[in-house]
Amino acid sequence: MDNDPNQGVQAFAPAHCDDYFIELCALSTTDALTSEQWRQLELHLSICASCREIKAQYDGVIATALPALAVHLAQASDGYTSDSWSIEQAEASLMARIDRENISPEKDPQPSARAFNWRGLPWPYAGAAVFLIVAACAGYRIGLLKGRSSSEIADLPTSHMGNAQRDLNHSGVPPSPAPLMSEQRTKKEVELRQQLQSSGMEVVQLKEQLNRLENELADSNSALDRDSQNHAELERQLSLAQTNAQNLEDKLNATVSQNSQSGAQSQMLQAQVSELTASMREKDQQIAQHEELLDHDRDIRNLIGARDLYIAEIYDVAKNGKTQKPFGRVFYTKGKSLVFYAYDLDQQPGVKLASTFQAWGRKGIDQQHDINLGVFYQDDQNKKRWILKSNDPITLAQIDAVFVTVEPNGESSKPSGKPLLFTYLRLTPNHP
Ligand SMILES: [Zn+2]
Repeated sequence: MDNDPNQGVQAFAPAHCDDYFIELCALSTTDALTSEQWRQLELHLSICASCREIKAQYDGVIATALPALAVHLAQASDGYTSDSWSIEQAEASLMARIDRENISPEKDPQPSARAFNWRGLPWPYAGAAVFLIVAACAGYRIGLLKGRSSSEIADLPTSHMGNAQRDLNHSGVPPSPAPLMSEQRTKKEVELRQQLQSSGMEVVQLKEQLNRLENELADSNSALDRDSQNHAELERQLSLAQTNAQNLEDKLNATVSQNSQSGAQSQMLQAQVSELTASMREKDQQIAQHEELLDHDRDIRNLIGARDLYIAEIYDVAKNGKTQKPFGRVFYTKGKSLVFYAYDLDQQPGVKLASTFQAWGRKGIDQQHDINLGVFYQDDQNKKRWILKSNDPITLAQIDAVFVTVEPNGESSKPSGKPLLFTYLRLTPNHP
């Protein structure tokens, strides 16, 4: 029983169940059951779980295995394989097997869809027979479809097809008369010669095309060679340019570092220059002071060397009899020069920073004729010393006394403040 197609179903058949109901389950997949048999089967299925399972197995075979078989048959028919599965062969071998094993009917014959008695068979054979019937129906339908499509294809091998299909293929072709055939052959020969001629021309054209393509290929190859040479040359130039760029960058870096060094150096030099400039300015000032001192010394030497020199120290005396700041010192050479030193002129009430100290020469008793001798200039700011010089002999000849006023609005034409440091000049020379 190794090759029995119902082996899987048999495994689910319990011993206690009547074979009759298993056969009914198998036949229920076809239209072979009477209404009475349907009623019996349904009644039994309602109380027997194992038969329900068997019926479900048969239904499953019909639902899944047969469509798959149909597809297999269709593919086999497309490929025209010689080992196509044949319904007729399978049915014949099944019947031969039944005959060989001498299976006889055990029950009374009953009406059936087929010529032999289904009930007389053991249930595996009955199942196989049902399967064959259904498969035959499906195969016949597929065969019809295939036959219709293949009849449209002319001159295909037909050895594996059925008789009906062979008849169908040959029925449409009418017999050909012999004269027509030779005429057709001549015509065909002419056509073939023309085709041969055109093919020869095509071959010539193709050869020309091939030559052209070979020439183009050679051109392309030489161009490619030139390109690769150019490429090598360009790469050489590129590497040269890169080397140059690297050199330039190195030089630039060196220059930058030199620049930063020289920048620091120039900063240092600048500082030195500033120092030197400052010290030079200081020296200039010292020189100017020395020159000024030399000038003074010269004046003093001239004064001291001159005859008729009158030197006077002048103090203003307060009401309480004490001497006051400021005080003055006069060097007067009669009719030649007057040098008036005044100290601490700003050390008195009412003097502002902007005040001008002005010297006057008195001419007679009339104060209306006081002569302007000029404005004092500050000789030494630290020592609070102011100086006025006059070398005008005409002016000096007219005056007999000198004094100082504080002028709040700059140099004045008339003395406006009270006289300070008044001293007479018409005195006997006291030096040397
Ligand atoms: Zn049962």
